[in-house]
Amino acid sequence: MRTKNSRKKIVILIVVLLLLAAAAVLFYMLTTPRITLNGDRKMEVTMAEGYTEPGAEASFSFKDITGHIEIDSQVNDGKVGTYTVTYTVNYLRKTATAKRTVNVVDREPPVITLTEGDRISIRPGQEFRDPGATAIDDSDGDVSANITAKGFVDRYNKGDYEVDYTVSDSYGNRAKATRTVTVEGEPVKEVRGVIYLTFDDGPSNNVTPEILDTLEKYKVPATFFIVDYGSDKNKLKTLKRAIADGCTIAVHGSSHDYSKIYTSVPAFMDNVTSLRDKIKSDLDYAAFAMRFPGGSSNTVSKSYSKGIMKKLVKDVQKEGFMYNDWNVDSTDASGNNIAVDEIVRSVQERCSKDTFNVILMHDSDAKGTTARALPAIIKWAKEEGYTFRAMTINSPTVHHDVNN
Ligand code: ZN
Repeated sequence: MRTKNSRKKIVILIVVLLLLAAAAVLFYMLTTPRITLNGDRKMEVTMAEGYTEPGAEASFSFKDITGHIEIDSQVNDGKVGTYTVTYTVNYLRKTATAKRTVNVVDREPPVITLTEGDRISIRPGQEFRDPGATAIDDSDGDVSANITAKGFVDRYNKGDYEVDYTVSDSYGNRAKATRTVTVEGEPVKEVRGVIYLTFDDGPSNNVTPEILDTLEKYKVPATFFIVDYGSDKNKLKTLKRAIADGCTIAVHGSSHDYSKIYTSVPAFMDNVTSLRDKIKSDLDYAAFAMRFPGGSSNTVSKSYSKGIMKKLVKDVQKEGFMYNDWNVDSTDASGNNIAVDEIVRSVQERCSKDTFNVILMHDSDAKGTTARALPAIIKWAKEEGYTFRAMTINSPTVHHDVNN
């Protein structure tokens, strides 16, 4: 009986062991290593902050096998792109993998360095040569060539002028730096005995061509501050001829209607930039100068927007325009059909050989007498020894006192 009992115990033991072994095999078959990523499965990092590997944890059932993880990271945080990090754990001949996607993005704008610093001063009349700027970007490298500078330094008038330098990298991060150019101190030599003939409110189909005929005959250039010429092919032809003849085209404004243009700063700026853009696209011509309808001293703008002129004189320069009033009024705008003699006399009385002369005239349809006065004005001025020039970016400017 004893042996029988012992045998029975052994069998039970074997069965239990077999069951345990089977359970162990089953457990092994059903258990896989698990990887848990620290941090997000999809990460976005900037080039500036860089990528720090957050790692992962791994377990096999209740056993921590983090130490068995191998990390294969393709991330290059010095370069924009999408990268994959692969986490692999091998344990008891079982493998688990997990992947993380890392987006490296560039949010850093280039760094602009203004050559010669952010403040420069020049004397009135002294030529302003922009010393330029350099720009380095973390992804694009040297982007100095893409810098655009905007702002007009009126070297003939004392004051502070701002020039904005902007540049973007290929990911749209934009940098801007501003330089203040101060025109101050004793003026350098002035332009003397020069006449700048300027005609506002054109082009017209009768007066402007007649003026161009006269200018051509006497080999004299002029500057035209124009308004919108619509889609008039003849007017476009006239403007092309003016440019070909050595004249310059400048902006008066798409509209001349005070009640529209002087209601707000944006309305005014749009009125001048839209015409500048139109001239650029129609004539491939970069108009740099503008004249305020009514001049910068006008008071009519007061009834539409108080104090607007104080802002506009700054803003047009920031937009890159040279604005130019006049110091010789031909009086042709004091009414229609002002007598030829009166126009000629007004110019003669007001011109001075001690300085430069920006003569205000008009070439809209109603200014026939202006066109007829022009030959006498040119003949007289030539006899007196004046020289004629078209306005250029380096021409002297006249600024009236701002009254609004
Ligand atoms: Zn005008």
